[in-house]
Amino acid sequence: MSAVIRFVRSAFLLDFLGAFALAMKYFFRPKPTLNYPFEKGPLSPRFRGQHALRRYDSGEERCIACKLCEAICPAQAITIEAEPREDGSRRTTRYDIDMTKCIYCGYCQEACPVDAIVEGPNFEFATETREELFYDKARLLDNGDRWEREIAQNLKLDEPYR
Ligand code: SF4
Ligand code: SF4
Repeated sequence: MSAVIRFVRSAFLLDFLGAFALAMKYFFRPKPTLNYPFEKGPLSPRFRGQHALRRYDSGEERCIACKLCEAICPAQAITIEAEPREDGSRRTTRYDIDMTKCIYCGYCQEACPVDAIVEGPNFEFATETREELFYDKARLLDNGDRWEREIAQNLKLDEPYR
């Protein structure tokens, strides 16, 4: 009987020492967890976040209302209406994205011939209501204005692979 007790005790001690050594090994390693939202990890230039409509440096909107993004969207989340301007150029009068339908596939960005619609680096756009996820043109252009520097940099980094 005493031999059995000694065996159990030694097995328990070995388990304890093994667990303790493992705990000490990770205790002194750098922490992989981040103190979000105060700390944030790196994002790939290809990260597909919140949508934005971009402008040229002149302030003119890039979108030429070709509707390729609307046609390719597998979720049918994009709705575009367009009219010719007085100068003959064609621009959208309505550009809506229903973000509750969007599956963040990136096809709209891939299809766009002028890099107008993009998925930017912003991933912090959770809302409390569905209505806030129905984006209109003004909202999308505003996103573009706000994130243009990061978007342009990401597109440049990704350029060799496109
Ligand atoms: S990311 Fe995909 S699902 Fe979302 S709007 Fe673009 S094409 Fe549609
Ligand atoms: S965002 Fe791009 S693909 Fe969509 S309508 Fe405008 S120019 Fe065409």
